Amino acid sequence: MKFEVTILGSSSATPIYNRNPTSQVLNINERLYLVDCGEGTQQQMLRFDVRGSRIDHIFISHLHGDHYLGLIGLLSSLHLNGRKKALKLFGPSQLKEIIDLQFKYSETTLQYELDFFATDSTQSQVIVINDDVTIETIPLDHRIPCNGFLFREKKRLRKLLKDELERIGVPIELYTSLKKGADYTDPKGKLYKNDTLTTDSDKPKTYAYCSDTLFNPQYFKQMLDRANETHHTTALQAAEIAVTVNAKRLLIGHFSARYKSLDDLLEEAQSVFPNTALAIEGKTFVV
Ligand SMILES: [Zn+2]
Repeated sequence: MKFEVTILGSSSATPIYNRNPTSQVLNINERLYLVDCGEGTQQQMLRFDVRGSRIDHIFISHLHGDHYLGLIGLLSSLHLNGRKKALKLFGPSQLKEIIDLQFKYSETTLQYELDFFATDSTQSQVIVINDDVTIETIPLDHRIPCNGFLFREKKRLRKLLKDELERIGVPIELYTSLKKGADYTDPKGKLYKNDTLTTDSDKPKTYAYCSDTLFNPQYFKQMLDRANETHHTTALQAAEIAVTVNAKRLLIGHFSARYKSLDDLLEEAQSVFPNTALAIEGKTFVV
């Protein structure tokens, strides 16, 4: 099953030339999930061929402008482009008020249903369950209510040992139940346990999007630099978290305009967690 993330923007605070504020799009089994929608996200979608009509879920981590100022424009364009399909939007409760106000004064009545779900930054919640994934919020420690989002692939079906099934002569119409774990009894009454006919499925993949957060301030007191003042983690701290949670891979983003080159950040994170990559715009990472 396809499970990949494309970076649309990875700058923090203000856009700079050739770098846009935060936004990412996940493609999970050909369904698109947009995570944050900084200013300029629509342009980035055009640039990297991400069609808005294919997005049915949008997640906004928090209400700092670099994470959502592109949202109203995107919602408007979907309306102007004739969208009829409902769109689910997840974000802090005040986001609804902001959107309602903007559409009120532009006298816009959306042609599609906008289903808003207010996230809670005090506890984790499961906010989406479908055939492909479960999506949960990750409450983060930021100056204003903020959530990350955890995308967890649904447990996959067991893998068939085709040669063995053919040798025994298991009817093809039973394959689906075998994948779900059923045993097989042949016409003579001989029982075949499921684990002799199938193997374990691949482990479900997960992707955790953690936007702005402060990490373990006591431990990182020696690093009281601008990152702490602005309630962000440094690249090093992000790497530290990746080690703690046993991650396979780390993408670092939300780059400050102060950094002309990002190589130092990458090296810093890699010194702690080698499998770190830069969330460069336009790059797609397979989870
Ligand atoms: Zn922020």
